Amino acid sequence: MSAAERKIQKKSVSMPKQNPEVRIRNFNEVALGYNEEQALAEAERCLQCKNAPCIKGCPVEIDIPVFIKLIRERNFEAAIKKIKEKNSLPAICGRVCPQEEQCQKYCTLGKVGDPVSIGRLERFVADWERERGFNIPEIPASTGKAVAVIGSGPAGLTVAADLAKLGHKVVVFEALHLPGGVLMYGIPEFRLPKVIVQAEVDYIRKLGVEIRLNHLIGRTYTIPELLKRGFNAVFIGTGAGLPQFLNVPGENLSGIYSANEFLIRVNLMKAYMFPEYDTPIKVGRRVAVIGAGNVAMDAARSALRLGAEQVYIVYRRSREEMPARKEEIENAEEEGVQFCFLAAPVRFIGDDRGWVKQMECIRMELGPPDESGRRRPMPVKDSGFIVDADTVIIAIGRTPNPIIQCTTEGLAVTQWGTIVTDENGKTNIEGVYAGGDIVTGEATVISAMGAGKRAARAIHEYLTGKA
Ligand code: FAD
Ligand code: SF4
Ligand code: SF4
Repeated sequence: MSAAERKIQKKSVSMPKQNPEVRIRNFNEVALGYNEEQALAEAERCLQCKNAPCIKGCPVEIDIPVFIKLIRERNFEAAIKKIKEKNSLPAICGRVCPQEEQCQKYCTLGKVGDPVSIGRLERFVADWERERGFNIPEIPASTGKAVAVIGSGPAGLTVAADLAKLGHKVVVFEALHLPGGVLMYGIPEFRLPKVIVQAEVDYIRKLGVEIRLNHLIGRTYTIPELLKRGFNAVFIGTGAGLPQFLNVPGENLSGIYSANEFLIRVNLMKAYMFPEYDTPIKVGRRVAVIGAGNVAMDAARSALRLGAEQVYIVYRRSREEMPARKEEIENAEEEGVQFCFLAAPVRFIGDDRGWVKQMECIRMELGPPDESGRRRPMPVKDSGFIVDADTVIIAIGRTPNPIIQCTTEGLAVTQWGTIVTDENGKTNIEGVYAGGDIVTGEATVISAMGAGKRAARAIHEYLTGKA
């Protein structure tokens, strides 16, 4: 049946989710994924547009109409193979990519109804393959060249996979005891189960990539040392893992966490499984989360699952400016997270044991747009008010850790500590490339992967003398 003959289904097939009352008592995945029948029905909606505008919204350039057509033909094996020509982490992307701002934003169907749920279809075939065992592509003979990749987040893993598939030896150096970067230590289990991250990292290992954990580059080795030790090129994918703070009085009180610490305890150290795992976490009855991005939503929803009675997001702008994914804001609301817009904390107040018990906030109003394009929040005079909070989680942004920059003489960095590169990730030092959050500042999984892909191409050209 041609697209013209088919009646266009304007509504996408919805994805089953755990019921909110049930899911706030567990850390299991909220979105349950399509079954085969649902995936086929959603794939059927695709118009197979000749110009495929959806592809231009995908930073790793997946051939979307072709993989959807293969799903339609029930050839799931070929569909995932097609995706993996471009994307080595499809089960992850299918879950956490901000699809509404990427591929799906450009989908032709979006003009008359819901865009095709490209991410959900990607997740469906990625899960289908994982359950049956990965197909490992044939790797060409060794080129004799070696690349050191620093950091095992989505940028580093993408560079590593793409270069290994071209026959280069790749060693990933990771500071933490588990690979995956934010995918492992930041995004909670209920959005991205760690077995999925582990499985896709294992796939990359099977491509021949070696991952050395507990190696902090800048301390264990420096970049000049890596180049001297026989690596022909280095890729820096160290992310933006340094939390920002409000710098207001009382911020050092007990019970105030950076979202980084809070989420690392929960995800990486499995604090929600204490005492089976030995990292405890203390969450009070009233939890305030400052900020309104994905990190804030993750912290708020984790706090609810850890037993908080009331969790509220305090945000200095309004609902329209919230940077978190729409889907995750809706999930947070369904679970009972409350929102306090146009407010900002100016000080924290402690009890006589030094624990936070309240915070003073002021009202904000929105002025003209700032350099980010969003309307600038401005304090309203004499608008202070007190809010009770016995746990506070600060989720207002993250910046790069400066260790690499400080130990690599001559490396060009910006005033914000991000590394300067050209559009292909080349830094000002010969053979040294960078990409992901360390270059752009906090961004997204798929933009880090897109940067990794471009850098892998550039490194390959450099190593093969084509640059
Ligand atoms: P990272 O993922 O930060 O990985 C960097 C890695 O480098 C880390 O493993 C780190 O330990 C390692 N490292 C750092 N320094 C060194 C060193 N000196 N030596 C060795 N290793 C080092 N994006 C989305 O698209 N969708 C989402 O839903 C989403 N949710 C998020 C939720 C949270 C809680 C957070 C924190 C971020 C979220 N993001 C989301 C953003 C996204 O995860 C990041 O943009 C992305 O992970 C950046 O990838 P990266 O590879 O550049 O860095
Ligand atoms: Fe869309 Fe992300 Fe998949 Fe690309 S990787 S097709 S942007 S969901
Ligand atoms: Fe299918 Fe939408 Fe891409 Fe057209 S734009 S091919 S409808 S996914």
